[in-house]
Amino acid sequence: MPSTEQTFIAIKPDGVQRGLIAPIIARFENRGFKLTAIKLVTPGKAHLEKHYEDLKDKKFFPDLVEYMNSGPICAMVWEGMDAVKTGRTILGATNPLASAPGTIRGDYALVMGRNICHGSDSVENAQKEIALWFKEGEVVSWKSAQESWIYEN
Ligand code: UDP
Ligand code: MG
Repeated sequence: MPSTEQTFIAIKPDGVQRGLIAPIIARFENRGFKLTAIKLVTPGKAHLEKHYEDLKDKKFFPDLVEYMNSGPICAMVWEGMDAVKTGRTILGATNPLASAPGTIRGDYALVMGRNICHGSDSVENAQKEIALWFKEGEVVSWKSAQESWIYEN
């Protein structure tokens, strides 16, 4: 029985500008995850401050918000078995220099302030982030024709 765990994944403005939307989506699709929501957004400073509110006392917070506010973001919800933890593994470490090759950050980035992508760090935060970024009805429930080829019964 496939898990329906959901995670919030965002391609940050640098990832969008560098033409990495398709390769990032391909990594999640190819792994077997199911896309249930996607949109390109520039949600503004207040929204981004809310998204990163746990980090508001960090020295890098103003630069982080400016970076995130510098262009469109591709916001997505991906669903599947262990989606939160495995999503983070696909992203790589926060510091791209510490990310293994084969991860998104390990293949495409060098510095923390331009690290291409965001992924929820817990199931609870994933639910909070999905509710912040998507309205009711924007997350679509659908059955993938590939399901029985990706999961055992
Ligand atoms: N960040 C930064 N400097 C730091 C730590 C984090 O610029 O020393 C940025 C980086 O873009 C990171 C984001 O702040 O992705 C959020 O930090 P967090 O610790 O939540 O890392 P993540 O969950 O994205 O790996
Ligand atoms: Mg984080």
